[in-house]
Amino acid sequence: MKNFAILSDGTVYKNDRHFRTLEKKLAREQRKLSRRQLIAMNKKIKLSESKNYQKQKRKVARIHEKIANKRNDFLHKVSTEIVKNHDVIGIETLQVKNMRQNRKLSKAISEVSWSEFFRLLEYKADWYGKTVVKVGKAFASSQLCSSCGHQHKDVKHLGLREWTCPGCGVHHDRDVNAGLNLKQEAERILASSTVGTTGLA
Ligand SMILES: [Zn+2]
Repeated sequence: MKNFAILSDGTVYKNDRHFRTLEKKLAREQRKLSRRQLIAMNKKIKLSESKNYQKQKRKVARIHEKIANKRNDFLHKVSTEIVKNHDVIGIETLQVKNMRQNRKLSKAISEVSWSEFFRLLEYKADWYGKTVVKVGKAFASSQLCSSCGHQHKDVKHLGLREWTCPGCGVHHDRDVNAGLNLKQEAERILASSTVGTTGLA
């Protein structure tokens, strides 16, 4: 995944390339750890007594920690910036499943990151008096034309990155258009909940 997040105003938050390098390194060192485990087993040495295995295990743990720290810094930086610059933040509640099926490891990391990112957005929004609106996964954010509302299923079926709306002829970047739809939907949800509250009061 090249991009971490794309906002409706076109702002793109890219994933740190250095981070991907670290992930590759982690995978390599973990394979090495498995090999050392196998060697110890073949020699009938307990893992707790295998110096080579223990040394490698510490190495893997250090890379894990480095990745976690980098991830945290990044998530904090992005969430603070978004919350400070916007009053209403609409987020899609389930993007994880749409993400490319990566190696298990990367996927696990992205899932943790997304839920952590949402958590940060929500509590920072609270601090700054901003509003986070969750838009349900049933909302077809990528397929709807943000200009005329036409639903274009090819976007999903053909995995189009860019498309021209057959309804109104506007040309879209898939992610920016999805962001604009999310924004509109978040505003709609917010407006209807406000009306509800006023109605009660
Ligand atoms: Zn259209």
